[in-house]
Amino acid sequence: MWTNWSGGQQSRPRATDRPLDEAGVVAAVLRAANRGQRIRPVGARWSWSPLAVTDEVQLDLSALTGVVAFGRDRVRVRAGERLQDLLPELSRRGHALAAVPRGDGVTVGGAVSSGTHGSGASVGSLSSLVEGVRLVDGAGELRRIDGPDLDAVRTGLGALGVLTEVDLAIGPERIMMAGEELRALDELLDEGFFETHVWTELEVFPDGQAMAKWANPVEDDPDEPERGVAGRAVAVGSAAAVGAAVGSAHALSRVVPRLAPALRRSASRWSGSTTGPAYRVLVAERPVRAEVSEWAVPREALGHALRELAAATAARDLVPRMPVLVRVGAPETGWLHPAYGRATAWVAVRARRGTAFEPLFGLVASVLGDVDGRPHWATRHDWTAPDVDAAYSRAPDFRRVRDRLDPDRRFASPHLDALLGP
Ligand SMILES: Cc1cc2nc3c(=O)[nH]c(=O)nc-3n(C[C@H](O)[C@H](O)[C@H](O)COP(=O)(O)OP(=O)(O)OC[C@H]3O[C@@H](n4cnc5c(N)ncnc54)[C@H](O)[C@@H]3O)c2cc1C
Repeated sequence: MWTNWSGGQQSRPRATDRPLDEAGVVAAVLRAANRGQRIRPVGARWSWSPLAVTDEVQLDLSALTGVVAFGRDRVRVRAGERLQDLLPELSRRGHALAAVPRGDGVTVGGAVSSGTHGSGASVGSLSSLVEGVRLVDGAGELRRIDGPDLDAVRTGLGALGVLTEVDLAIGPERIMMAGEELRALDELLDEGFFETHVWTELEVFPDGQAMAKWANPVEDDPDEPERGVAGRAVAVGSAAAVGAAVGSAHALSRVVPRLAPALRRSASRWSGSTTGPAYRVLVAERPVRAEVSEWAVPREALGHALRELAAATAARDLVPRMPVLVRVGAPETGWLHPAYGRATAWVAVRARRGTAFEPLFGLVASVLGDVDGRPHWATRHDWTAPDVDAAYSRAPDFRRVRDRLDPDRRFASPHLDALLGP
C-alpha cells in the first residue's frame, strides 16, 4: 500500500519503478508504453492532493539525486534531490535559493511541478527559479526545454513528462535575522506588514490576533535592533522579544483554550535561535501531520478574504483548530501556477490528521473561490477542468504542450483527467 506523507492519500500501484539514472527513467517510460500502462512520477510524496497517486505504474524518483553542475548564478540538479540536501550544499558554496518553503523534505522535481512557494512580497516560487529542464516525454524521448514551453513545465503537475534534471537560478547566501510578535491582524494589514520585510508569515487565530513572523537579511551588525513589525524598535531574536511573544500566546491560549498547543508551537518557532542562513531560519522545524487546503487569492483581496473566512467558519461552527497560515508571493509566469499573473496572498487552512476536514475545506473552497482564489495544486481542493479553464487564461496553451509532449497520456491519472480533461 502506497501512502502520501500525511497518510490521507493511499493507492496500490500495480508496479513501482525506481530508476537509478536518466537512462533508467527512459527505460521505465518505454516499458510502460510497450505494456500500454500509465506511469506517474512521484517525488517525496508530500502532496496532500492526489497529484502523485496512481493505481498503475509509479515512478519513484528518490534515487535520482545530487548536484550535476554549479555555475555562478545557477545550479543543475537531479530532480529527485531533496531541498534538505540541496540547500545546505548551496550554502556551503556561498549560494542560496530565493524561495524557501516551510517543508524542505520535498524534491526539486515535485516542488517545481506543483508550484511550491515560500513567502515574501517580491519572492517568486521555486517554479519561477527554473531556467531549463531535461525531461523524458510520453514517447520516452529525452528533451531539453528552456524556451517558451518552460512556462508550462514550471507548474507541469507531472502531466508533461518526467523531469530528470532542473536548472535553478541561485543568488548569494544571505544571513537572515528573524523575529515574531503577537499582534492584532487588522493593525498588521493596515501597517503594510507584508511589504515591510523580505520574508513574512502570519498565523491568524480566530479572535483576530495573529502571530507575525518576519525575517530580513542581516546587513550590518547582527546585534543592532531590527525594524519592528510596525516600525517600532524590537530586538529581533532577543530573549525579550521571543519571551513577550510566548507570554502573549500563553495569555491568548487561556482565552481560546483549544488553540493553546498550536499557539505555543507557533510562538516558539525559532526556539531562541533567530539568525542564520535562510534554509535554517525559514524552514518550519516540526511539520505537523495535518491536511491542508491552501488558496492563492489576489494580494489586494487578502483582508476581505480573511474577514469572510472568519465570519463563514464561525457562522457554521467550523472554526479551524489550527491557526490560518498566511503568506505572500510575487506574480508568476508559469501558466498553471496559482499566482500566475498577479501578486498573491496564500491562505492555508489546516486540519489535524484524523479530524473530519471535508466540511471545513468545502467551506474554505467556496469562500476563497468567491474572492477569485485558486487552489494550491498540492493541497486539498475540489477543482475540475471547467474551474481551471475559467481561472487560467493560458490553460489552452498548457494543453497544447501536453498534446505535444504526451499525446498518448502516458502520465495521466484519474486526478489529472478530472483537472485537465482526458
Ligand atoms: C510538511 C509540509 C510542508 C510544506 N510546505 C510547503 C510550503 O511551504 N510551500 C508550498 O508551496 N508547499 C508546501 N508543501 C507542499 C509541497 O511542497 C508539495 O506537495 C510538493 O509537491 C511536494 O514535493 P514532493 O517531492 O513530495 O512531490 P510529490 O508530492 O511526490 O509530487 C507532486 C507532483 O509532482 C510530480 N512530480 C514529482 N517529481 C516529478 C518529476 N521528477 N518530474 C515530473 N513530475 C514530478 C508528481 O507527479 C506530482 O504531480 C508542504 C508539504 C508538506 C507535507
